[in-house]
Amino acid sequence: MTDPGAVTLKRFFERVREGELTGIRCTKCGALEIPPRALCPACHARAWEPAPLAGEGVIASFTVIRVAPRAHEGAVPYAIAAVRLTEGPSVLGRVVDIPLERLAIGLPVRFRPLVRGAEAAIGFGPA
Ligand SMILES: [Zn+2]
Repeated sequence: MTDPGAVTLKRFFERVREGELTGIRCTKCGALEIPPRALCPACHARAWEPAPLAGEGVIASFTVIRVAPRAHEGAVPYAIAAVRLTEGPSVLGRVVDIPLERLAIGLPVRFRPLVRGAEAAIGFGPA
């Protein structure tokens, strides 16, 4: 990773922390991916450019977590959703500020950064 413009996972989460959701677009075939990965799954090129995303989408599927890893055990139950972004790709995020009983496939949501200490994670709240 020597390209300063490359969207690395580290930079991806730095941008998440700043409230921006950034995908990568393959300059060979146009595929849009999130989060960043090394090779384009469609054409196997390694030719990405940053692609800012609006952070809006709908829930494509979700899972309610009732038994959490130790680091999150104070937070259960909570939901992890696969959100289909308006730009096309789907990304996993933790659902915040939406009652679990209101969760539904197709529910509009909006990206929200979840910052805890030095860590940033992808969250989705009400649209
Ligand atoms: Zn490609």
